[in-house]
Amino acid sequence: MRITLLPSHCTHPEQLQPLTTFLVNGTVAIDAGCLGIALSLDQQRRIHHIIITHAHSDHTATLPIFVAEVFPFLETPIVVHAIAPVIEALRAHIFNDAIWPNFGQIPLLNGAGPALIYHGIETGIPFEVEGLRITMVQTNHTVPCAGLAVVEDEVTVLFTSDTHHTDDIWQLANRLDNLKAIFVDVSYPNELENLAAAAKHLTPQSLDEELHKLQQEIPIYAVHLKPQFHTQVSMELQRLNRKNVFVAEIGREYVW
Ligand SMILES: [Zn+2]
Ligand SMILES: [Zn+2]
Repeated sequence: MRITLLPSHCTHPEQLQPLTTFLVNGTVAIDAGCLGIALSLDQQRRIHHIIITHAHSDHTATLPIFVAEVFPFLETPIVVHAIAPVIEALRAHIFNDAIWPNFGQIPLLNGAGPALIYHGIETGIPFEVEGLRITMVQTNHTVPCAGLAVVEDEVTVLFTSDTHHTDDIWQLANRLDNLKAIFVDVSYPNELENLAAAAKHLTPQSLDEELHKLQQEIPIYAVHLKPQFHTQVSMELQRLNRKNVFVAEIGREYVW
C-alpha cells in the first residue's frame, strides 16, 4: 500500500499542513482539502473514489475544484464515500448550485450517468474500493466525523481523522491484523488543551493518553498540526519519549 499526505501550503509545502488529503495507491483519496490543487491533471484523472471523513473545509475545500478539473475527461462518475450526515452537508452547503454547481445533477459528457454520485457508508460495515477494504468508525469531533481502517492484502493502515478523546477507533485498531501504522490528529500544543477540547482535536499530551488504549506498538504518524503551532507541537511530540511517534512527512510516499 502506498500512502502520501499531500502538500497544501504554498510557501512551506514540506512543513506546514493547513489542509488534509491522503492519496492511497494513486487512485483513492481520503479527504479533499487539497486534492484539487496538489496533483497534476494526469494524477487527478486516476482518482475516481474519494472518502470524506467529515465536512469541515480543511477536508473538503478543493473537492469542488477537483470535480470541475476532471469533469471533461470522466467516463464514469466520481464516487464520494461518506457517512450520511457528511453527504447531507456536501449536498446542502457545497454542491448546491450557489457555492458550486450540483455535479450530482450534471450528466457526464458521454451520457453515462451524473458526474458525481454519493455512497452512504454505515459505520462498522466494511466496503470495497479499488481493491481496498475500508471500515469507517465514528470519532469524537465537533461535527459528525468518521476515521477509517484501510486494508490491502496483508497491510492495514488506520486514519483517525479529526478527533478528541475517543474509543471506537482504538478498539477497531486493537481488532485489526497486520496494522502497520496510524495517522492521527494532533492539532494543538499542550498549553491549548482547552481549545483543543472545545474544537475536539488532540494535543501531544492527550495523544499520549489515547495511546494507552492501543495494545500494540506500531508507528504513529501525527498529522493536522496547526501551521501556527507546528514547531511547538513537533517538540512536544518528541518530548513524549515514545520512539514510535513521528510527525508525518508531507509529500513522502509511505510504502508497506
Ligand atoms: Zn474537523
Ligand atoms: Zn481538520
